[in-house]
Amino acid sequence: MSQILNITLITLKVTIGAMVKECPHCHALKFKNEPAGICCASGKVQLPVIETSPEPMNGLLIDTDPDSNLFLKSIHTFNLCFQMTSFGATQIVNNNATNG
Ligand SMILES: [Zn+2]
Repeated sequence: MSQILNITLITLKVTIGAMVKECPHCHALKFKNEPAGICCASGKVQLPVIETSPEPMNGLLIDTDPDSNLFLKSIHTFNLCFQMTSFGATQIVNNNATNG
């Protein structure tokens, strides 16, 4: 007994619009129908200010380093090379400590 499989592909066009709403707490830009509090829990979550990256990373990121162009073109590859899962530790060992 043979079975006939009918597959109908429906192409949906979804328009989500522009990011026109701004959170009054964290100033995140959001789409029109995003609920309040999705970004910062209505001001309950406050992230620390991002510090400037140390050199040479900052120069590579802001295009003041001669290698910046190559770095920015390759940053996705670099991220893939160095991606890893997070890991935990139960003991902090100082390099200067004597381990017996
Ligand atoms: Zn917010």
